[in-house]
Amino acid sequence: VTADLACRDLVELVTAHLEGALPGPDAAAVQAHLAQCPACRRYLDQVRTTITVLGRVDVQGLPADVRARLLDAFARRHGRGAG
Ligand SMILES: [Zn+2]
Repeated sequence: VTADLACRDLVELVTAHLEGALPGPDAAAVQAHLAQCPACRRYLDQVRTTITVLGRVDVQGLPADVRARLLDAFARRHGRGAG
């Protein structure tokens, strides 16, 4: 169980967190990180708003730096590619 998350770790967990797909300990770690990291709270808010409005994550509507982090997280999470 990860007690301390880095911001890059949180980025990978945010979508699962919003989907309610995280196990309890991971969700708790995310909450703990958000409590002490305003940047990630803003990031989470952006992602949540995007999902709420569009029903899904539309990375085109996000700031470039956020989009880059999201794309990186998605690429690793979905693991799609030519291999
Ligand atoms: Zn953070």
